[in-house]
Amino acid sequence: MKKQIAVLPGDGIGKEVTKGAVDVLQAIGDRFDHQFEFTYGHIGGVAYEVTGSPLPDETVELCKQSDAVLLGAVGGPKYDTLPVHLRPERGLLKIRKDLDLYANLRPTTFYASLADSSPLRKEIIQDVDMLMVRELTGGLYFGKPSERRTVDEKEAVVDTLFYKREEMVRVIELAFQLADKRGKKVTSVDKANVLESSRMWREVAEEVAKRYPSVKLEHMLVDNAAMQLIKNPKSFDVVVTENLFGDILSDEASVLTGSLGMLPSASLSENGPYLYEPIHGSAPDIEGKNIANPLAAILSAAMMLRVSFGLEEEAAAVEKAVDEVLNAGLRTKDILSEGKRAVSTSEMVAEVKACILGHETISSIMGAYA
Ligand code: NAD
Repeated sequence: MKKQIAVLPGDGIGKEVTKGAVDVLQAIGDRFDHQFEFTYGHIGGVAYEVTGSPLPDETVELCKQSDAVLLGAVGGPKYDTLPVHLRPERGLLKIRKDLDLYANLRPTTFYASLADSSPLRKEIIQDVDMLMVRELTGGLYFGKPSERRTVDEKEAVVDTLFYKREEMVRVIELAFQLADKRGKKVTSVDKANVLESSRMWREVAEEVAKRYPSVKLEHMLVDNAAMQLIKNPKSFDVVVTENLFGDILSDEASVLTGSLGMLPSASLSENGPYLYEPIHGSAPDIEGKNIANPLAAILSAAMMLRVSFGLEEEAAAVEKAVDEVLNAGLRTKDILSEGKRAVSTSEMVAEVKACILGHETISSIMGAYA
């Protein structure tokens, strides 16, 4: 198979972790005889520095001409004083809009080997297998007006929560399709006791549910969902919610398994290309130190193989390699616990690659001398 992949490393550790994911994809190409061609583009702060825009048109064009997009992360304190329209996060919002990436999928998977890194007790998180589906191109983050005002000579502000019904239908429909192939349950999260947008969301969820009789629908208020994610995360299968609630809940879900550095995501559009990125940010506090956890980016590459290219065996090979490396006790600093071996970003990538290619690894050598 031959595929074009647009790589947008972005800022901070984005560069380090996307390099890891590209190395791993190359290893998969070598083992399974695929040709992945990588073309690089700018996004975020680095794009602003090079081109004056956080998302230049060339980057959007590059993505549109590719089969899939791999993104690192954007942002950093040195860009915080830029005018809003030039900030790195604008680049991120714009690429979602320009590629019409309306649904963000974030799986939360339990790794037995990482149970100690979770802030929750093992019995609570054991066997958690949840997929969060977040609406990504509507709601408060895109509504107009969004501005400061003067009202009665006093400073005021307005943000707008706007959704078309069809925007709700497509993302909720996708959640049902995914649930139909998994645990057959959708939890639709809203704030229907207060917000009109949520009452419409609930109505749409009910309508869509009629088309999926084998999938159970439950409604949950967002405040309760925030609590249940901590108290009883095993009760969730597919969770679907609007943009703002999804932003917050998916970060909450991410700490269940211990580290932001472990969680991949995929953003889907109607006609592709899809975009894959780790859920973490640019982590300026650890930039350039070769200590970032590359596994979220590597697992995002695995999602790309499965979802965009239909390469299930190859995706599973990446996930198995990540499992093996963790089971061998290798850890980047963010997931390090007592008795485990600390490795750098590049060592972790080398280990995952070695597992994929069946080469000898630090872990196997360690095993031999244990
Ligand atoms: P962050 O995710 O960058 O970092 C939060 C904490 O987690 C930091 O202590 C960081 O060191 C750690 N961390 C994150 N990823 C890690 C990894 N792979 N390995 C090890 N440790 C990791 O969030 P933040 O500090 O709130 O934001 C920093 C910048 O990133 C901001 O400019 C923010 O706007 C941006 N951001 C971008 C995205 C994105 O590009 N999708 C997402 C979130 C935040």
